[in-house]
Amino acid sequence: MGTLAPLTIRMHEADNVAIVANDGGLSAGTILSDGLVLVDRVPQGHKVALQAIARDGAVLRYNVPIGYAIKDIPAGSWVHERLLHMPQARSLENLPHATRKITPQAPLTGYTFEGYRNADGSVGTRNILAITTTVQCVAGVVDFAVQRIKTELLPRYPNVDDVVGLEHSYGCGVAIDAPDANIPIRTLRNISRNPNFGGEVLVVSLGCEKLQPERLLPPGSIALRSDEILDVVCLQADKHVGFMSMIDSVMESAVHHLERLNARKRETVPASELVVGVQCGGSDAFSGVTANPAVGYATDLLVRAGATVMFSETTEVRDAIDQMTARASTPEVAQAMVREMAWYDAYLGRGSADRSANTTPGNKAGGLSNIVEKAMGSIIKSGTSPISGVLSPGEKAATKGLIYAATPASDFICGTLQLAAGMNLHVFTTGRGTPYGLAPVPVIKVATRTELANRWHDLMDVNAGRIADGNASIADVGWELFELMLEVASGRKKTWAEQWKLHNALVLFNPAPVT
Ligand code: CA
Repeated sequence: MGTLAPLTIRMHEADNVAIVANDGGLSAGTILSDGLVLVDRVPQGHKVALQAIARDGAVLRYNVPIGYAIKDIPAGSWVHERLLHMPQARSLENLPHATRKITPQAPLTGYTFEGYRNADGSVGTRNILAITTTVQCVAGVVDFAVQRIKTELLPRYPNVDDVVGLEHSYGCGVAIDAPDANIPIRTLRNISRNPNFGGEVLVVSLGCEKLQPERLLPPGSIALRSDEILDVVCLQADKHVGFMSMIDSVMESAVHHLERLNARKRETVPASELVVGVQCGGSDAFSGVTANPAVGYATDLLVRAGATVMFSETTEVRDAIDQMTARASTPEVAQAMVREMAWYDAYLGRGSADRSANTTPGNKAGGLSNIVEKAMGSIIKSGTSPISGVLSPGEKAATKGLIYAATPASDFICGTLQLAAGMNLHVFTTGRGTPYGLAPVPVIKVATRTELANRWHDLMDVNAGRIADGNASIADVGWELFELMLEVASGRKKTWAEQWKLHNALVLFNPAPVT
């Protein structure tokens, strides 16, 4: 903290609670600057009642009821989740569709980065050989081959950043003709077309699996050169005698792709070629005060620069659906948002769950009482621009601007689906702290608190905690993040997750049955 004086943060003038910003919280008896005396000890990130709240009265944060008091709450009390009833989820009927008239912000011109232009027009921020797999059975072999490629081949191709095996748990033992099976299949297909892989597709298949290579990548689904057929190494092919012959086949195929990737050169492209996925994980009450608002500011800058920005995490958007449909650029976009929410409500309902299954013990320890409070802090990442598109899980983005990519909030599943959507840069905010990273794209991590940024000084790329400390504005950190994105996209800077090669697994969203 920049100051030892008691510091509380209220998000909206109508709010009857504020959160305590001081490290270690504030003890009972502390006198706040407006004279309010704390009647309880209030931990850092937790809420204090700014006035008496009667039983059944609304507890307002972000000018939204995040809950209703179970009993009378005196002014100066610690307002924790055990004192609140959670509001019902907003009905999906009669929502405002594209009603909010948003004055477009001035275009932001002149910002560029150095990227790899692909044949399909997309731009990569990294130059990576990806090995697509059709089934989990081949994962061990692909891993072995990737290690050999890294040590024996990669040094000969200095312009190629990395080799990544796209390993996953799908491909066989699944109801592949079930309606929802299209989600994991198109996710894998679209990941193999991620801009950071340069249009080079090398597939390793077992042979007997349900997800045959032609089903994963049917003719026309990827832009192959005219003289070329899909490059598949099939482990069960008769020509493979012994394990090493399989490894030799993968390495032989890899050489052709590495040669082409190595010939690519970075060129100056406009910032509009960025496709940024924003996400939060390990959230605390500061997520919605510091890091997420700074990301939202950067989101607006990206949209003004003509880029594509995706926000996701359906269970964290559900409670703000009326704000979101109002912000849709057209009634069709609003309807698509409602369609995704209704699908997800039904999906959760099949498992006898609802959006309240989202919050974690860490969220609550960090001061977030429930999913409503978490959601209001989460959607701030989307900034203030109109929402101009909606993607179902696993679909690829085809438009610029702010897009709602419907995904679960699970960090890994969300990241995997944003990769499928064509993300070439990832921004991830965290309050409790997570070392999250993905092999195919750079992940910029933003800490919500200075204490975390200091303690995890070699894991966090940006410290948004300076906003709570009073040492930086939301705009300052938003601009810093925007400029860092251009540096990282250009390959001039590496993120900490890249530096340490912290790579979480691809985790497919498979709502269909497993056999
Ligand atoms: Ca998440």
